[in-house]
Amino acid sequence: MPSKTKSKKSGKSPAHKAVKYVYSFGNGKADGNGKMKSLLGGKGANLAEMTRIRLPVPPGFTITTEVCTYFYDHNRTYPAALDRQIDEAIAKLEHAMGKKFGDVSNPLLVAVRSGARDSMPGMMDTILNLGLNDRTVRGLAERSKNERFAYDCYRRFLQMYGDVVMGVQKRPGEDHEPFEVVIEELKKELFPKDPHVSDTKLDASALRTLTDRFRKLIRERTGKDFPEDPREQLRGAVGAVFGSWNNERAIIYRRKYNIPHEWGTAVNVQAMVFGNTGNDSGSGVSFTRDPATGEKVLYGEFLLNAQGEDVVAGVRTPEPVIKLQVEMPEVYRQLQDVRQTLESHFHDMQDFEFTVEEGRLFMLQTRNGKRTGVAAVRIAVDMVKEKLIKPDDAIRRIPADSLSQLLAPVFDSRARKTAEVIARGLPAGPGAASGQIYFQANEAEAAAHKGAKVLLVRVETSPEDIRGMLAAEGILTARGGVSSHAALVARQMGKVCVCGASDLQIDYSTGTLHVRGKNYRKGDFLSIDGTTGEIFAGEVKTSPSDIARVLIDKDLQASESHTYRLFAQLMQWADQRRKLEVRANADQPDQVEHAVAFGAQGVGLCRTEHMFFEGARIDYVRQMILAENADERGQALAKLLPEQRSDFAGIFRALGGRPATIRLLDPPLHEFLPHDEAAQRDLADKLGISVDRVSRRVKELHEFNPMLGHRGCRLGIVYPEISEMQARAIFEAAAEVQSAGIKVRPEIMIPLVGFPKELELQLALVHKVAAQVQKERNVKLSYLVGTMIEVPRACVVADEIAKSAQFFSFGTNDLTQTSLGMSRDDAGSFLPRYQEEEIVRQNPFAVLDQTGVGKLMELAVKQGRSTRKDIKLGICGEHGGDPDSVKFCHRLGLAYVSCSPFRLPIARLAAAQAALET
Ligand code: PEP
Ligand code: MG
Repeated sequence: MPSKTKSKKSGKSPAHKAVKYVYSFGNGKADGNGKMKSLLGGKGANLAEMTRIRLPVPPGFTITTEVCTYFYDHNRTYPAALDRQIDEAIAKLEHAMGKKFGDVSNPLLVAVRSGARDSMPGMMDTILNLGLNDRTVRGLAERSKNERFAYDCYRRFLQMYGDVVMGVQKRPGEDHEPFEVVIEELKKELFPKDPHVSDTKLDASALRTLTDRFRKLIRERTGKDFPEDPREQLRGAVGAVFGSWNNERAIIYRRKYNIPHEWGTAVNVQAMVFGNTGNDSGSGVSFTRDPATGEKVLYGEFLLNAQGEDVVAGVRTPEPVIKLQVEMPEVYRQLQDVRQTLESHFHDMQDFEFTVEEGRLFMLQTRNGKRTGVAAVRIAVDMVKEKLIKPDDAIRRIPADSLSQLLAPVFDSRARKTAEVIARGLPAGPGAASGQIYFQANEAEAAAHKGAKVLLVRVETSPEDIRGMLAAEGILTARGGVSSHAALVARQMGKVCVCGASDLQIDYSTGTLHVRGKNYRKGDFLSIDGTTGEIFAGEVKTSPSDIARVLIDKDLQASESHTYRLFAQLMQWADQRRKLEVRANADQPDQVEHAVAFGAQGVGLCRTEHMFFEGARIDYVRQMILAENADERGQALAKLLPEQRSDFAGIFRALGGRPATIRLLDPPLHEFLPHDEAAQRDLADKLGISVDRVSRRVKELHEFNPMLGHRGCRLGIVYPEISEMQARAIFEAAAEVQSAGIKVRPEIMIPLVGFPKELELQLALVHKVAAQVQKERNVKLSYLVGTMIEVPRACVVADEIAKSAQFFSFGTNDLTQTSLGMSRDDAGSFLPRYQEEEIVRQNPFAVLDQTGVGKLMELAVKQGRSTRKDIKLGICGEHGGDPDSVKFCHRLGLAYVSCSPFRLPIARLAAAQAALET
C-alpha cells in the first residue's frame, strides 16, 4: 500500500491505509463478499458473493457507499483517490472482457446501477449500454453482425442517459415521457395503419433515425450535446446515480421504510451482457419461490429479445418463466440449478435478475425477495421443515406487521358470485379491495385524505406514483408484469394489486376507463382481487380471512386451511419464545372472545365508557350527568348498575380465569350529551325535564380543553358515587361468575392519575365497596387495584404512586399527548409536515417516541420498582400493537402489552422477535 509506506517514511503515526473505494469482481474472484452490504450495498455485496460461489456473473466493480457519503458531505465532489481506483478497475475489466472502453472496433460496454444497503426497487437510477457513441455503435454492429441490435442498444442508452443524467423528462402538463413521444411519432410515420406496433418491429434504419432524433431532443431540451467520450459518460452516470439517492421518490421511500438517509448508495459498474441480440436472448426476473403465495416453485417472467429494464419497467408484458421449459430447455434447467444453489447458499427466498445472451445464462443480481405476508409465513415455515433454517430464523425474518395481510379480508364469496367480472389482470398483491377509481396519484391521495376508499388505476405505475399508491386500497394497472414496479411496491406495502390488465383502455385526459364497451369515470367504484387477478364492476362486499374464519367465525376447520395451519405453527414458535404476555383492549364479551381466539392472555384495557352507548344505557348515563344532586345521580346510577354488572360478568366468563384490567370512567362527561337542539328536545322528553335544563347543563359542562379537563380520576373524585357504582358492578359480577365455578381476576384501574392522593382516594373507595360486596355475597375475591401512567407527573412521582398502586399500565396515547403537548385528535393537521421535515420519523401516536416518551416510561419503571419490587407493569396505549414499540416494552421489562384483538398475532410475533434479540 503506497500510503502505508509513505506514512512510515514520514514517521507519522498511526499509519493509515489508503481507503479502498472500488471493489472488483469477476471470473470466480471478488474483493468483497455478501456480508459487506453496508459498504457495497445489497446488489454489490451479492454480486461479489455470487461470483465467489461461481455463478455466472459478468465481471465489474462496485464503488462504495462511503463515496456517496463523501459526495454529499463535500459538495458533490469525490475523494482524490477515486479516479485512480476506477481506472485500475476498468483496466481489470477490459482485461477480463478482452474489450476496451471507447474502442471503435471492439467496445467495452457497461451497465451502471445503484445499490443501497436495503433494496429500494425502482427508486434510483440505472444506465445501460454505457460506452456507446456514434463511432463505437458501428464497431458493435460489425462485431455482433447485427446492426439492428447495436442501434437498439444505442437508442436505449441515449434514452436512459438523456433522462437520468441530462434531465430530459416529462414537463408539467405533459402526459408522456418525451423520448416515448419521439418513438410514437416515428411509429406513426412508418406504420400509419398500425401505429401501436411493438418496438421489435423497428428495424436497424428506424432505430438509427431514432438515435438521431434522440440526440436532437437532448440538444433542444438541455442546450447541450450528448457526450461522446465514454469516460465522461461514466462520470456523468456515476454522479447521476449518487444524485438519485436524494431524489424525491427515494426520500419518500426511505421515510416510509425507515431507511436512514446517511446510508447512501453504492454504484455498480458491470460489463454488459445483452438480452436483445435476437430470439435466442432475453431477460428475466425470477423468484426462487412464489412471492405472492410462498409456494415452492420457480416463479417469474421473461421477455425474449429484451434488456432487463423492459421487464422491470412493465412497458411490455412478459411471459411466465415456465415457458422457457419449451423455448430454451437448457436455460430452464440451468435456472432450476441456480435456484437450488441460491437457496442453499443464502437460506432465503431469492429474487434474481438474469439475462440470456445467445443461449448463455448470466446472473445480474440476487437479493432476498420481497414477499407478501402470506408468503413470508409460508416460506419461513416451509424452510424450517426443509431444514434450511431454524424456527428462530423463521421468527426473526417475518416482519411482524406483515401478519396483518394474513388477517386481511377477502371478497364475500356470495357477493363475488353475483359480481360482474369486467376484466382480468395478473394477481400481483393478494387480498380484496374495493374503492373509487382515480387515475392520477395526486387525485387518489387527495380523495383518500378526505376519507374515500380509493383504487389507483394507471396504464403503468412509476415510482413517482408512490404517494398515490400509499393512499390507495388497491392498485390496478393495464400494463406490466408481476415484477413490475407496481407489483413490487404493492406487495411490500401490503396493498392489493392487479396488474397487466390489457383490456383496460385508460384515457388520462378525460378521466375515463374503457373496458370491453363500457366506460367507468373517475370516482366510480370498482373492486379488484389481487389473489386471482379479477376486476369487478362496483363495490363488492368483503369477508374475513381464513384465520378469522377458523378462529372467530368458526365456519372453517383448521384442517381445511393450509394458511391457518402455517399461521398456527408460527404462533406456536413465537409463544414458546416470547417473554412478554399479550393482552387485548376489549370492552365487550364478544370482543373478548375474539381476543382470546387470537391469543390474548387477558384483557389489558376495558374502557367502561364504551359500554355506555348501547341500548337504553345512554339515557341513564345522560340522566346521571344531568342530575343536579347526589340523590338524583344515585337513581340514575342504580339503573346503570345491573347493565354494567352483566357486561362485566360476560367479560369474566369469556376470559375463563384470565385477568381483566377494567378502567373506571375516563372521558369528559359532555361527550355523552346531545349537542344539537332536536336531540336535546328528544332527551328532555324522555327524561320528563325541560329542554332549558338540558341545554343549560350542556353549556355548563362545556370545556375549552376537555382532554385536559374534567376527566379521568377527576370524575370519580368529584362524583365518588360513579366510581362506587362501577366498583360494585365489577365485584358483584366477579362474585356471580366465581360462584358459577369460573375463576375471576379483576384488576381495577384508575385513569389519569398525577398526584398520589388522587389514587389513594379512589383506592379507598374501591376497597370499601369490595369489602361490602364480599360480605353481602359471602365470598372471597382476589383482585388488584392499580393505575394508568399517562401524564408526565405520574412518571416523575411513580415511587410515591407505587405505594398504593399494585400495578401500572402505561396509557401511552395520553402520555404521548401530554408529554409532547400535542393533541392526539388534532396532530393530523401538522404531523405529515413534521415527518417530511424529519422532526419526527414516525407518527408518535402510532410508534412510540422512545427517546422522549420512552424515557419517561423508563423513569416510571425505575421509580415504581424502587418502592414495590414486584409491581406489575404493562402498556395499553395503541403502541402495544406496534412491533417496534412492543420490542421497546420488552427491553423495559414490562410484563405485558395490550392491543386491539386483530393486532394480537403481530404483538405475539414482535414479542418473540424481541426475546430473540436479547
Ligand atoms: C391511553 O391513554 O393510552 C389509553 C389507553 O387510554 P385512552 O386511549 O382511552 O385515553
Ligand atoms: Mg388515556
